[in-house]
Amino acid sequence: MPDAIHWLALRRRLACLLLAALGAGGTWLHADESVLPIFDAHLHYTGIDAAALSPIEIIGILDRNGVTRAVVSGLPNRAVERLHAAAPARIIPFLNVYRGPDPKVNWMHDAELPARVRDMLDAGGLYRGIGELHIFAKDAESAVLMALADLAAERGLLLQVHGDVEVIDALFARQPGLTVLWAHLGTKPHPDALAPALAQHPNLYVDTSVRDGRFVDARGRLKPLWRDFFIAHADRVLVGVDTYWTKRWQGFDAVAAEIRAWLAQLPPEVAEQLASGNANRLFGDAEPADRAHGLGWLPSS
Ligand SMILES: [Zn+2]
Repeated sequence: MPDAIHWLALRRRLACLLLAALGAGGTWLHADESVLPIFDAHLHYTGIDAAALSPIEIIGILDRNGVTRAVVSGLPNRAVERLHAAAPARIIPFLNVYRGPDPKVNWMHDAELPARVRDMLDAGGLYRGIGELHIFAKDAESAVLMALADLAAERGLLLQVHGDVEVIDALFARQPGLTVLWAHLGTKPHPDALAPALAQHPNLYVDTSVRDGRFVDARGRLKPLWRDFFIAHADRVLVGVDTYWTKRWQGFDAVAAEIRAWLAQLPPEVAEQLASGNANRLFGDAEPADRAHGLGWLPSS
């Protein structure tokens, strides 16, 4: 058999074996169907990440950790768009509005930012939200932030906010219909601070990223205080790894295992809501036909 034909036959055979291993429906890619699917509400994929890890490698990381969908933002937005193109049903892109030096602390003083964001949103319909926005109490009334709140409300986009409760209050005072993802359980990540904010703002959701260590004791047991909080707010909490630098992507498995360890100590229906149910409700379930898009890298059979 000539080499080319032999190679084609081998590719076909490999593809068929892979598809068989994935199950007849070609559905989700994680090996063990009994693993609780995770919708990660807080990931970043930047140009620096992209230089180390291709979209296919990122999808491989998500696959082996049972992460079926994820909210992803990053600088430049092009990196996120490339990742989204590789798995459109799995990647929920959020628009990064940062640019210039020290954007995390300066963006809210850039009067031209809202017009620029409007243009970026007009240019492409991919984005489901804006963020992550770092902003604290002293800037809670920022005109730039309020303009983003208006833009998000007008276009049905979510805002992902890393900041103080004063910022959350200001956003909902401006746009009560807005939906806000409050990153890392806010800046006072304690049930006593979170419960009143969640009670006051029905469209506020919190993500647990980077806070996993505080939910458990030295032996890894879920603390009763947090268990009670998660059960009482089971419809408002989302999990996330937060890949804030490339090493976090490279250590993704360990963080995902940490999240799964505390989720497993909750009643199953509560764990399911935190792991993916709430995020799926917020973003809408993926179309089954679209899910197979993650298989685009496979050789055709
Ligand atoms: Zn982040």
